[in-house]
Amino acid sequence: MVKSNYDIRAACKRSRLHAEYGSQDSELRRQVKIQFLLQVRNKSMNSAPFNFTVRESSRARYVRLLVTPQRGLEVIVPRGYSHSRIPPIIEKKHQWIRSSLDRVEAYRTRFPPSPAWKIPERIAFPAIQRTWQVEIYPEETRQVTVRENSKGLLQLRGNVGQAIACRAALHRWWLRQGRHHLIPLLREISRETGWSFDHATVRRQRTRWGSCSRRKSVSLNVKLLLLTPELVRYVMIHELCHTQEMNHARRFWHLVQTECPDFRALNKILRQAWNTLPEWACDE
Ligand SMILES: [Zn+2]
Repeated sequence: MVKSNYDIRAACKRSRLHAEYGSQDSELRRQVKIQFLLQVRNKSMNSAPFNFTVRESSRARYVRLLVTPQRGLEVIVPRGYSHSRIPPIIEKKHQWIRSSLDRVEAYRTRFPPSPAWKIPERIAFPAIQRTWQVEIYPEETRQVTVRENSKGLLQLRGNVGQAIACRAALHRWWLRQGRHHLIPLLREISRETGWSFDHATVRRQRTRWGSCSRRKSVSLNVKLLLLTPELVRYVMIHELCHTQEMNHARRFWHLVQTECPDFRALNKILRQAWNTLPEWACDE
């Protein structure tokens, strides 16, 4: 596989500075989620079925089993991996899966799931120092639309009893905000530093704040809007710096330091920021 990308999460997640590789640009598109139920013959426990999800990841090098309270058993496979090869793996690991699922079940009993997604009363984007009070207008339509007015009000209209439709509408608006504010900011920092990029996109991503491809295409997480301007600037500097140094080696950090002397502290805050995101912005 071509080592074409470096991501900020790798830098943040590990104390050892270490890069992860993968073709990040098309990562989300390729993360084809295929939900299906498979009856796995379980030798020791008759034919207990495991519900699981298969997630294809272009970053994955090998098959990985993951059990979480949120998503149960997930099988993460490299792109193009034949799904017919999964059942024997599950069968081989059934003891581990069973005990992990039991642990997760015990966790669920102790910490029941958070209530269903609710429309927030207020939305704040510290990155651009804007806040909105959210107003709800039920209407006899199937869609939900989101409109902001000049008085700092964000109006949700339509089928507002449908949480999924509201969330989707709000997330669409959020992405528009992201594109509108984050890309010009990236351009500005690019001009300031002289580190030019080719193309920029804003997406909602689960695990990374940003990434930069070998073709100098920068991807920014719309969740950056929920962070402070200082952190956003650091993420942008970090990604733009990858247009000069496609790694996390010493030269890279030297370069980051020239624009962002306190990058270490910011990295630390970024690592924890995932846990402080408001409920309305959570993925599932
Ligand atoms: Zn990086």
